[in-house]
Amino acid sequence: MHLKWHLLSGVIGIPQFGFIFFIGAVVPDLPLIYNEIKIRKARKPFNSNTLSKVELIIYRVFHSILLTIVLWLFKPELAGGILLHIILDAFTHSGKMAWQPLYPLSAFTFKRKNKK
Ligand SMILES: [Zn+2]
Repeated sequence: MHLKWHLLSGVIGIPQFGFIFFIGAVVPDLPLIYNEIKIRKARKPFNSNTLSKVELIIYRVFHSILLTIVLWLFKPELAGGILLHIILDAFTHSGKMAWQPLYPLSAFTFKRKNKK
């Protein structure tokens, strides 16, 4: 979780789109909060293998472009924040946390190119 980058990107959008944009930029990672608290207490690095199946499902739903499209119809500023969050994650996450844009309809995974 790159919370500080999501917080910063949300703050940058506030003057143009309002506080709801900030909420959108942060909310997709909320399913990871419990795990984050657990690993920080244990002073261990992030490990996606410690996420429960339920946490992973909720995480993927919040990062799905399908949810973003639905939200765009009702609250475009919120969806805009989520979309920015997803774009930042798409290029920085891999493995279990890799972006599945059409989740839950498809398990297609966006794979970033590895650095050489
Ligand atoms: Zn995320």
